[in-house]
Amino acid sequence: MSYSALSLLIHAFRGHRDWKPAWREPELKPAYDIVIIGGGGHGLATAFHLAQLGAGTIAVLEKGWLGGGNTGRNTAVIRANYLREESVRFHAHSMALWNELSSTLNFNVMFSPRGQIDLIRTWGKLRDLRRRAAIMERHGVEYDLISTRRIREMVPDLDLGTEGAIEPGFGGKRLPVLGGAWHPGAGVARHDAVAWGYARAADALGVDIIQNCEVTGFRRDGQRVTAIETTRGSISTSKVGVAVAGHAGVVAELAGFRLPVDTWPLVAFVSEPLKPFLHTCINCPATQIYVNQSDKGELVIGGGPDRYRSHAQKGDWETVENVTRSLIDLFPRLGRVKLLRQWAGMIDVAYDTSPILSRSPLDNLYLSVGWGSGGFKAIPAGGEAFAKLIVTGMPDELIAPFGLDRFQRGRPLFETASASARG
Ligand SMILES: Cc1cc2nc3c(=O)[nH]c(=O)nc-3n(C[C@H](O)[C@H](O)[C@H](O)COP(=O)(O)OP(=O)(O)OC[C@H]3O[C@@H](n4cnc5c(N)ncnc54)[C@H](O)[C@@H]3O)c2cc1C
Repeated sequence: MSYSALSLLIHAFRGHRDWKPAWREPELKPAYDIVIIGGGGHGLATAFHLAQLGAGTIAVLEKGWLGGGNTGRNTAVIRANYLREESVRFHAHSMALWNELSSTLNFNVMFSPRGQIDLIRTWGKLRDLRRRAAIMERHGVEYDLISTRRIREMVPDLDLGTEGAIEPGFGGKRLPVLGGAWHPGAGVARHDAVAWGYARAADALGVDIIQNCEVTGFRRDGQRVTAIETTRGSISTSKVGVAVAGHAGVVAELAGFRLPVDTWPLVAFVSEPLKPFLHTCINCPATQIYVNQSDKGELVIGGGPDRYRSHAQKGDWETVENVTRSLIDLFPRLGRVKLLRQWAGMIDVAYDTSPILSRSPLDNLYLSVGWGSGGFKAIPAGGEAFAKLIVTGMPDELIAPFGLDRFQRGRPLFETASASARG
């Protein structure tokens, strides 16, 4: 038995006494050099990198508990198969950081690069994925078009619908799978562990992580924020970073400006545990379903966002029904499998579906928002770049295209490669 297994056993019998908490619970101070609003993956990663850069005193304010927002609600797929040059470059860098993350944080985030197959069921999607493959190749990201035969070898349980007629109602599938795109570098990680790993590492570098502390307003002197009002008192600060997925519009309004984002619920669910049969992630844009099997055997299932904008965290039943129907369409033998849990998170989506990693209309307030349905994979690169932006006041080359000014300059960055882009 290894030392860590033995120590786990001893602690279990001793009722978990004397365990050192992974991070402190410090008193909120009246002033910090930098305040980060939002204790999800992006806020915590940013605080960690700020501390590494020696940026001064730093606090992370979280209205609930760490990772209780989208970071702890997401399906944890990590990939770089985007359409736009700017997105591929950014996500390729993030994937490289994922490969090192457990050792960077000295915390096992359980990154498991198991690859992803994007199923192609329409000629339009085939054209889209060909374009993406060409762009990804330029950035050294592997993304290869594969045949239905190869897909069948990799995932024998998939019903590709290639047998029978193409017309609906005459046997076979209305949209048989035409082929796929194989993205071997994609994978999944343990979402809570990512929040905890960054929190622990940031805390060790002196960051104050304050939970149950909601930001309720801002005090301003002209275009500068001078203090932040919270449910636990006011804090003066020189710089503010906002990383509040699902609440970006709300917090921007508190600060006195508007953002071009809408908020949508995005559902996900897990099944009862099954014997391992799915060794890669499957994504089917045409029917808005993606699925992978967790190490515990549960299927982790997601789809597109709800049809209506809202801040509800439960998801609409029609979307749930559509996603489950699409799952059974791909894997008919899962028809009798029970779903264990279903939930939703709120995603902020800009109208071009790309994130906003940017300065704001206020001089000392910065934004890492609009991550939509795809910000988990962006946490390592997003945190690193956002910290640099806050310190220097200037975006580096990697994130310059994601500035808020792109909307004013007529340079939106339309993406097709996120669930929030609906296909
Ligand atoms: C169902 C679902 C599935 C997803 N699947 C994937 C996926 O497979 N891959 C992927 O890459 N991405 C996925 N995403 C998207 C991803 O989860 C998010 O983009 C990412 O987690 C955003 O991280 P964050 O740190 O910005 O936000 P969050 O983790 O949401 O953290 C923001 C925090 O801010 C806090 N907050 C809000 N307002 C205030 C306030 N006024 N004061 C203080 N604190 C405040 C919230 O409580 C929250 O904890 C999915 C999202 C959902 C909902």
